Amino acid sequence: MSTATILSPCPVFIAGEWRALAGVATSPVFNPSTGEVIAECPVGSAALVEEAVQAAAAAFRAWRDTPPVERARVFFRYRQLVEQNFDRICVTLSREHGKTLSEARGDLHRGMENIEYACGIPTLLMGDTLENIARGVDCETLNQPLGVCVGITPFNFPAMVPLWMFPLALACGNTFVLKPSEKVPLTAVLLIELLEKAGLPKGVLNLIHGGREVVDALLTHPKVRAVSFVGSTPIAKYIHATATKHGKRVQANGGAKNYLVIMPDADVAKTVESLTTAAFGCAGERCMAGSGALMVGAAGERILPALIEAAKAIKVGPTDRTAQPDMGPVITAAHRDRVESLVASGEKEGAKVICDGRGVKIGDAPGGFFVGATIVDGVRPEMTLSREEVFGPVLNVTRMDALDDAIDLANRSAFGNGAAIFTNSGRAAREFKHRIKAGMVGINVGVPATMAMFPFSGWDESFFGDLHIQGKEGVQFYTQQKVVSSRWFGGTTEDVWKK
Ligand code: NAD
Repeated sequence: MSTATILSPCPVFIAGEWRALAGVATSPVFNPSTGEVIAECPVGSAALVEEAVQAAAAAFRAWRDTPPVERARVFFRYRQLVEQNFDRICVTLSREHGKTLSEARGDLHRGMENIEYACGIPTLLMGDTLENIARGVDCETLNQPLGVCVGITPFNFPAMVPLWMFPLALACGNTFVLKPSEKVPLTAVLLIELLEKAGLPKGVLNLIHGGREVVDALLTHPKVRAVSFVGSTPIAKYIHATATKHGKRVQANGGAKNYLVIMPDADVAKTVESLTTAAFGCAGERCMAGSGALMVGAAGERILPALIEAAKAIKVGPTDRTAQPDMGPVITAAHRDRVESLVASGEKEGAKVICDGRGVKIGDAPGGFFVGATIVDGVRPEMTLSREEVFGPVLNVTRMDALDDAIDLANRSAFGNGAAIFTNSGRAAREFKHRIKAGMVGINVGVPATMAMFPFSGWDESFFGDLHIQGKEGVQFYTQQKVVSSRWFGGTTEDVWKK
């Protein structure tokens, strides 16, 4: 591994100033296609958090009092700048994450939809009024920002997940401290540089890096009012418990295990296409990845041969060159090893690997962290492979006798992020939609990840909190309602308008 190819520095941005943190510990940022270290991410401290939160707190009053239309204009300009720099951001994103350029574009596109949503903030912030709640008394609601909000984000969507958070939080009038994943900090730097160019005042958005110490200091800081988190379930639980204990509002998205139910009447070609994307898109590193296929009745015989063929045809390879593969590497060598060992555990517990992506070697990228598309048949719910989130290109297959059994099995999962059914039967789809225990449901849609105007609605162990990220719930999360009741008594001018 060489540090000779450092791609770019990884500065912090506090009170409108970019600076490198000298003399601190760092963690490596890899190019997962080659295994090379391309940057070093500084590990911040509680002192850094103090600076960032104080900068955000100092900027709050002026930003809160900036008219929503003016705040929205910053995001109109920001959207344009992101569009102008689209390819440059995607190259960096793909380089530090490993996803293909086309997947990087999808990542940023989904993020941009959140900027677009934030542009509508003047309308989204409107309150309610009722005249004459009692004689001569009127009532109105005002949606006001909270203060300093915090975002802690995972590695798998380096653009989209931060953009789920700070555009809406800031458009609502809050100030913000972002702590992106130390595995993919470079995309966040580019995104924030552009927001600075769009005219965001100093201190309104601050970027810091670090691990547990930084996160704990954010979760417990008296001036932090709200915490948005996206990451794995154990950390989401910890974030929710710690931050709520310290009086913060929290939305914490966790991991997932999403079931795809395939009925015997499903359209073969379209279902195979959807399953392939759902299971192997972004190398399975998606909280909405379809990781368990429940094949009902004859669905297995109808779908599996074509699915195996499609999985075997997926070309895995490095994403940092002109010729793009279908699927890139996973994030680290350790993660690749974990994915492969989970597949091995399935085999040991009696499942059969019918398409094996383990041990992939790419001639011109020998150090890359590759795993090929993998399908494991005969997976039972009690197996480790079934219970754990694999977060790699692995699809578990379980044969079921009836839709009822498939729904029951899926509903026993501790998670509740997404689920989908493939069928031509409205009756089956309706039953599934009604009974499935998941917050985002697809009907002949393999990855029902919601757009910016809808909440990203995980349930159970996939979400901790009350108000989800995105949509109107997102606006509610980043604002507090003030309810004003008013009445006016006769003054000196009363004679003027009364007969
Ligand atoms: P992760 O939980 O390891 O890390 C997420 C963030 O938490 C990072 O910023 C990291 O620095 C920080 N962190 C890690 N360990 C910590 C600790 N002990 N104390 C405090 N902070 C800590 O998650 P990841 O591996 O980066 O991302 C993958 C996970 O995120 C998967 O489980 C995936 O399902 C989940 N995810 C969920 C959603 C969703 O909306 N539900 C979306 C994307 C990803």
